Amino acid sequence: MATSQPRIATVAVRTGQQRTAEGEHNDPIFLTSSYVFTDAAQAAARFAGEDIGNVYSRYTNPTVRTFEERLAAMEGAQEGVATASGMAAVMSLCLALLKTGDHIICARNVFGTTVILMQKYLSRLGIEVSFVHSTDIDQWRNALRPQTRLLFLETPSNPMNDIADLSLLAQLAHDHRALLVVDNCFCTPVLQRPLDFGADLIVHSATKYLDGQGRCVGGAVLGNPELMAEVRAFLRTAGPTMSAFNAWIFLHGLETLSLRMRQHSDNALRLAEWLVAHDKVQQVWYAGLESHANHHLALRQQSGFGAVIAFTVAGGRTAAWQVIDRVQIMSLTANLGDAKTTIIHPATTTHGRLTPEERQASGVSDNLIRIAVGLEDCADLQDDLQQALASLTGNNNR
Ligand SMILES: *Cc1c(COP(=O)(O)O)cnc(C)c1O
Repeated sequence: MATSQPRIATVAVRTGQQRTAEGEHNDPIFLTSSYVFTDAAQAAARFAGEDIGNVYSRYTNPTVRTFEERLAAMEGAQEGVATASGMAAVMSLCLALLKTGDHIICARNVFGTTVILMQKYLSRLGIEVSFVHSTDIDQWRNALRPQTRLLFLETPSNPMNDIADLSLLAQLAHDHRALLVVDNCFCTPVLQRPLDFGADLIVHSATKYLDGQGRCVGGAVLGNPELMAEVRAFLRTAGPTMSAFNAWIFLHGLETLSLRMRQHSDNALRLAEWLVAHDKVQQVWYAGLESHANHHLALRQQSGFGAVIAFTVAGGRTAAWQVIDRVQIMSLTANLGDAKTTIIHPATTTHGRLTPEERQASGVSDNLIRIAVGLEDCADLQDDLQQALASLTGNNNR
């Protein structure tokens, strides 16, 4: 029987491997900066682009290529380009596809460094940016200009779990001959495939769930061959390339991604429901909860809700810090997408550079705590939070 199109868990383990003559079972790692040619004619043809093959690892490396092919197949993209970091992916995409005079509409709740890249650096090149609330389609529509080339967003957002309607935004973008770009870091293709809803490009920080164990920094851009040719040409020239070693680590991350994302999501939903019932907790934001404003949209777009939970405690910043300082299992770090659960106070860390008004607009209050739920036993995470929350005096006034 002819094999059908393999499913995502199979793709994650199998796609893209080029077994060498050694017959190695594991994906090989090609730690080489350059490649030898059989003769001068082949060298000339490789440089001229007439003979497709390896030249130099700034833009051709077999281990990196395997990672690109595997992630692209998982996202349902025709091609992918791996980058040195998630930010290198965002930068490469913007510099490869935009020019002076172009305009970006970006969701205000995207990763903070993405905002700075656009506000501080792209604006110097004459690329203008407007920021909008990701869930308000009228704001997106009103921000459109004849020069608008990109609509850029994350869904779910960090940390409030705002869910943006990908189909609506894709239609809006295409009506104006603009491209919809989705940073799919929080869901990964296991839980959400933005191209299926009409998005044109995906960016990833591989540093998070794709690795899954907090080891390496990396990223990727995925999309159609024409757009990827531009991004690859930029990478070849500018150089923010993924290293072969990191690609090899990420390949092994992809092998377990399906299993991990299910467990992350299961743990997070259980913990979110437990927090809702806790008398020291005021409010919980997690798109898996029916009480979340975007729950039904999340059900439509995602096959799981991911692992990032935000919640408030009574008593302002002091109380939030007290909980964070008392947890014993959870790690106090800004990272997420790790087997280890992490906890952070967004208002004074990840969102600390925003003005108080901007923080309020994005829902990041002083008494808000973010947890990125890992792969520990959820009962132990509950015990950890229980003893930390118990140290707060008095019930909240909800
Ligand atoms: C971390 C992150 C980035 C940046 O990725 P790096 O690998 O740290 O450069 C971009 N987008 C989102 C949503 C992130 O969480």
